[in-house]
Amino acid sequence: MDTPLHLLIATDSESSADALLAELRRAGYAPDGTRVEDEDGLRNALASGSIELVLADAALTDPSPLRLLSVLEEHAWDGPVIVLAQESDEALVVAALHAGAGDYLTWGRLARLGSAVGRELRAAHGRRRREEAERARKEAEERYQALVDEIPALTYISWADPFGSPVYVSPQIKTLTGYTPAEWLADRESWVRSIHPEDRERVVAELTRCREQGQPFSCEYRTVTREGRVTWWRDDGRFLTDGDGRPQFLRGLIVDVTERKQADETIRRLMYYDALTGLPNRSLLLERLQKELAESRTLGRALALLLLDLDHFRQVNNTLGSENGDRVIQEVARRLSDAVGGADQVARLRGDEFALLLPGGDATLGRQVAARLLKALAQPVMIHRLPVEVGASIGIAVAPDHGEEGETLLRRVDLAMQAAKRAGESPVVYSSACDPYDPHRLVVLGELRRAIESDQLVLHYQPKVDLKDGKVLGAEALVRWRHPKQGIVPPDRFIGLAEQGGLIKALTGWVLDRAVADCRSWELEGRTLSVAVNLSARNLQDPQLADHIAALLESRGLPPGRLELELTESAVLADPRRAAETLERLDDSGVALAIDDFGTGYSSLAYLRKLPVSQLKIDKSFVMAMSNNHEDSMIVRSTADLGHNLGLTVVAEGVEDKPTWDMLGQFGCDAAQGYYMARPMPGAELSAWLRDH
Ligand code: C2E
Ligand code: MG
Ligand code: MG
Repeated sequence: MDTPLHLLIATDSESSADALLAELRRAGYAPDGTRVEDEDGLRNALASGSIELVLADAALTDPSPLRLLSVLEEHAWDGPVIVLAQESDEALVVAALHAGAGDYLTWGRLARLGSAVGRELRAAHGRRRREEAERARKEAEERYQALVDEIPALTYISWADPFGSPVYVSPQIKTLTGYTPAEWLADRESWVRSIHPEDRERVVAELTRCREQGQPFSCEYRTVTREGRVTWWRDDGRFLTDGDGRPQFLRGLIVDVTERKQADETIRRLMYYDALTGLPNRSLLLERLQKELAESRTLGRALALLLLDLDHFRQVNNTLGSENGDRVIQEVARRLSDAVGGADQVARLRGDEFALLLPGGDATLGRQVAARLLKALAQPVMIHRLPVEVGASIGIAVAPDHGEEGETLLRRVDLAMQAAKRAGESPVVYSSACDPYDPHRLVVLGELRRAIESDQLVLHYQPKVDLKDGKVLGAEALVRWRHPKQGIVPPDRFIGLAEQGGLIKALTGWVLDRAVADCRSWELEGRTLSVAVNLSARNLQDPQLADHIAALLESRGLPPGRLELELTESAVLADPRRAAETLERLDDSGVALAIDDFGTGYSSLAYLRKLPVSQLKIDKSFVMAMSNNHEDSMIVRSTADLGHNLGLTVVAEGVEDKPTWDMLGQFGCDAAQGYYMARPMPGAELSAWLRDH
């Protein structure tokens, strides 16, 4: 089959054209030729067709072969041109070859035309292929560059050194950091320095680890832009090694993930925070509890968990409506957070239940914090100018004493909180006594009830001595249980149980009865002493207490001023309104009132001033150590001063040695109690002690 060939023959000689066509046919082509004999013809032919080859007669003068070549170039035609010349046209031929013609033939050797055309076509084909390849390569390169320049990611190459000193960065560095690539590359610490100070150490350590272990570097961290904006980067890089296999460069890609991080944060807020108060919710508390428990186990330290539940909140909701109920919850949340000095610490578990974790805290710290929380709720919440009282009950459980698992701890802190509700006094630290289903508790409760009825309880008395002249002013009644099997049981082991088990009214009744009777008998012996009795929170909420005491004093014939009642700050704060009412009535009847264990709670003296108390008993925990603890002695001294300024008598408990006794005298304290003077003793021994004193 002959090869088709579209060609253009520039000659003004028809016979020459025919000769060329005939020769091509002979060489195996099927030529389809257009003959042009002037420049216009040439231009028309070029415009109209797909010409593969041009044969130019050197004899043509318009256009001349040189002119023809320049017209072809003008039309960006890049096929082969063969010039046909006479032997004598040598100079012209050389010029034409310089100007881009591919080959030339003399008319006399036309037989070579076929092979010349074949060679020229192949060469042109090869040239075109190379050009095409080159163009494709260029295009690809441009597309890639555009990609690198335009994708919202930064590509970089840096040295595998501790600074990640930059070698190359793509132009996105400008959008990402505000620095141009040139500025970025000028400083070998630009990367390290742009990392957020809080993340820097972690990121550099991770980079070093990956380099040393030959692993890809993959890290998310915060950076600070030139304008000081904080953004999140995700950085993925691989190390390129040198000839010896040592990491030399890090090549990687950085994507700005700030938006994703913000979305994560929103989701986190929804999952872990309470919408009404903005406080951490139950899920977050549980997560933290697990984490802190693990940490406490490793460090061998304690962990306290507090659970606070508002009292009568349902009533608030029912009377004021749930919208106002929500307001109360918000105000409570705010006060509790303020009280512990951190917005993120108190969690709202559900409804009116709040919780607080104290890593490293024991029961003592738990009690102190609980007192602070209760104090924060002592003032009523104002709703539409209406004061709403919000008392609360608090339970405390401590790991590892009350459980090492989160579940156990949560169950037990709940039991402690419920026990606090029943007792009407907070906080209650978990003990088996809190568990209503603990069979042991029921047995002990039954025993205690019988003990009260059958006079198994006894009172010991500890004298209270005047610091100025050493005169005995009175005695404090401290109850003990003479258990048939266990012997003498101290009050700390059963008072809590009596409060929670509904026996405290009977117990206090028994103690009052006996103490008043004993005091009266001292009087009959000729000793004018007062007697002090301790009250529980529940007693203060008993509306009959004041009447009962008045009747008792009357029937025994003891002047009311001879009886002192001791109550703790937390007992008052458990239900401040009702406590205040009871205290007013007791005061009216002439009984003296004292604040016991002062300093362990958080009530201010200003608050106490509103109560009709006449005596302040500084807690023994400050007094016991004050002779060799400067801080404690300062607390005792300033408490004494403040107490006096409020017109109160100041008594120090827990005086164990002479230096303490002397110091208290210098501080101006009025009276003291403690092992140094006398331990609590049975009533019968007191008379003998008083004689010898
Ligand atoms: P409290 O009212 O603060 O009584 C003082 C406690 O400190 C007594 O412990 C007493 O024995 C102890 N104490 C006195 N001087 C010293 C001293 O120099 N050093 C040391 N280390 N301790 C000293 P007790 O008798 O075990 O009573 C403990 C608590 O039990 C009392 O603390 C009181 O809150 C409560 N309690 C005792 N009797 C009754 C009661 O009849 N009714 C109620 N509701 N609670 C009572
Ligand atoms: Mg007391
Ligand atoms: Mg005390």
